[in-house]
Amino acid sequence: MELFDFSKEPTAKAPGSAPALFLSHGAPTAVLTKDGFSESLESFPLSFKRPNAIAVVSAHWLTRETIEISSSETNETIHDFGGFPRELYEMTCPAPGAPEIAGKMAEALNGAGLKTKLNPRRGLDHGAWIPLKIMYPNADVPVFQISLPYPSAAEPVYKMGKTLASFREQGVMLVGSGSMTHNLSTLKWGDENAKPERDAVDFDSDVMARVASGDIAWTEHYDKLLKNFHAMHPTDEHFLPIFFAMGCRRDGDELKNIYDGIHYGTMSLRCFAFL
Ligand code: ZN
Repeated sequence: MELFDFSKEPTAKAPGSAPALFLSHGAPTAVLTKDGFSESLESFPLSFKRPNAIAVVSAHWLTRETIEISSSETNETIHDFGGFPRELYEMTCPAPGAPEIAGKMAEALNGAGLKTKLNPRRGLDHGAWIPLKIMYPNADVPVFQISLPYPSAAEPVYKMGKTLASFREQGVMLVGSGSMTHNLSTLKWGDENAKPERDAVDFDSDVMARVASGDIAWTEHYDKLLKNFHAMHPTDEHFLPIFFAMGCRRDGDELKNIYDGIHYGTMSLRCFAFL
C-alpha cells in the first residue's frame, strides 16, 4: 500500500496564473444595478493578479461545426438584446483584443482535432461584456471570444477547456459565460427578490455538488441525470459553458464560489472559479 497518494498533491501553480470561471451573466441590466450579484463580480478580481487577457465562451455566440475565435485588435460592443433602458445601448466596453493569443488558441484547438478559425470582425456580445464591464470597468484587460459549437454535447465543450487550460499559466483568464438556470418563461418578472423556487434551489445545489466532486462521468447524460433539466433549461446553450469551465480545471485548483443567489424566483446566477 502506498503511504501517500501523490495524485492528490496539488500541482505547483505558476505565479501569475489566471483562474477559470463559470459566470451566470444575468440580464444586461446587471451592469446598471448595485446588488449582491454585481458587488460579488466587482470584488472578485481583487482576489488574484490582473490577467494578461481574458477569453470568453459565451452562450450568445453559437457556431455550427467550426469554432470561431474573435481576433480583432479592438472590440466592437454588440448590443444583442431588446427592450432595455437606452443607457444600456449607449454603453460600450472598448477593451482591446488579443489577436496573437487568439491565433495560438486556434492552433491549439485545431491540433486537438477541434476545427477552429479566426474571425477578425466579431465583437463582444452581452454574455461577455456585461460581466466583464462590472469586473474591469476600465476595460483595460484585452478580451476576445471563442464561439460555442452548437448544437453540442458536453464532451467537445469540455475538451475545448481541457485543450486551452494551459493558457492560464500565461495569465489568460478563461471564462464560460451562461446561466446556472435559464428559463425565461418561469421568471417572476418585476420581482427580482421573489422567493426562490425549490426546484431551482435543488438544481443549483445538485450541479454544484457534482462540479465540486471533480467527477465528470455525469456530463455525458447531464440532461437526463439532472432532475428537471429541461424545466431549468428549455434550450441548453446557457448551460454548456459550464463544461468549458470544468475542462479548464487543473489538479490542485481550489473551487471558489463567487456568487450564489436565485433571482426572479427561478434564475440562479451562480458564479464560481477554479483558482
Ligand atoms: Zn444570456
